[in-house]
Amino acid sequence: MEVLRGSVRTYAWGSRTHLAELLGDPVPSPHPQAELWLGAHRDEPSQLTGEHARSLADALRDDPTGTLGPSRRARWSDRLPYLLKVLAAEEPLSLQAHPSAEQAAAGYAREEAAGVPRTAADRNYPDPLPKPELLCALTEFHALAGFREPAETVRLLRALDVRGLEHHTELLAAQPDADGLRALFTTWITLPQRAVDELVPALLDGCVAHAREHGEFTTEARTLLDLGERYPGDAGVLAALLLNRVVLTPGQCLYQPAGSPHSYLAGAGVELMANSDNVLRCGLTPKHVDVPELLRVLDFAPGAPTLLSGEGTGPVTRFAPSEFFSLARCAFDGAEEEADLGIEGPRIVVTVEGTVHLRSSRGQDQELPRGTAAWVPACDGPVTVAPVGGPALAFAAADGLGDRPADG
Ligand SMILES: [Zn+2]
Repeated sequence: MEVLRGSVRTYAWGSRTHLAELLGDPVPSPHPQAELWLGAHRDEPSQLTGEHARSLADALRDDPTGTLGPSRRARWSDRLPYLLKVLAAEEPLSLQAHPSAEQAAAGYAREEAAGVPRTAADRNYPDPLPKPELLCALTEFHALAGFREPAETVRLLRALDVRGLEHHTELLAAQPDADGLRALFTTWITLPQRAVDELVPALLDGCVAHAREHGEFTTEARTLLDLGERYPGDAGVLAALLLNRVVLTPGQCLYQPAGSPHSYLAGAGVELMANSDNVLRCGLTPKHVDVPELLRVLDFAPGAPTLLSGEGTGPVTRFAPSEFFSLARCAFDGAEEEADLGIEGPRIVVTVEGTVHLRSSRGQDQELPRGTAAWVPACDGPVTVAPVGGPALAFAAADGLGDRPADG
């Protein structure tokens, strides 16, 4: 195992405090810091800082059998299948959804055949992979995720009492299912701009009145007001009416399966995703929205957002919702104890509170203070984790294939 240095992405929606504090840099940071990337993404592979300093991408290329494991190499085409991030949002991210494996493969092939440059602004599928993602909250974390039960959305729309939306409300009330949601979403996302410019201010008026009365949907109304102020004239503000408003407490994990619309609003979390850039934007963005492709990818089945319950007793809880990744959350309350990480193959570990000590079955040791990370190749075998000198919180990522003895 080796120390791994990630890189900070400075998107405008980021926090000036969270990642700077985590990394021990001056607070507030001069620019918003949105994401700490830990992985081998082609745009920004993390760096191994040991005796043989090199990028993680180079380490994988030089020894794919040792790093990924003999049985995993073929499945992942010699690439690391996941990207681990610490995310800190001060402002809402765009509303988006990600394709399934089949949609991504077909979309990539189609755009390659059409000769769309991979970096073009209207390219939907820069790679052929799906992009499931998971977010485990570090602070209270706010998000929009998945389509709300239509009956409840009808109650929200009636409570907001927006002039111009009465007809839309009654259409959804008459068909309170996935087809009704598809029809209403499609209507809103394809409205002429002048209609959006009338409806959104009327919606915000309804939200102001509802928030003042402290009605049933106060949180939803405040979120819509916030989005409407930041994205005036954006049909995504209307689309946001249809989504579950989610609040995670620290330690809770939210999963985004293929086709699930989502927007992270505020908070810090550990995010783990398939190593893909395939995003279909639904709004709340100045960037390109490809409506026909979005309508193909979105899953309109309503329901509660997918909160993962996790497995394991003691300090380590494991979340394994996808073959592309699994996450182990290692929370030590101050008692001296050692636990099995319990995930195998190519691993990345990051400490977000306190200090942990890693030990591999081959006798290697690595101490990881807050804000540092380690790369643990498959050939290091099983690893134990223990706190050093008090409470600690660390996260370990692996793929989701589980135990494969040949890789140990
Ligand atoms: Zn996403």
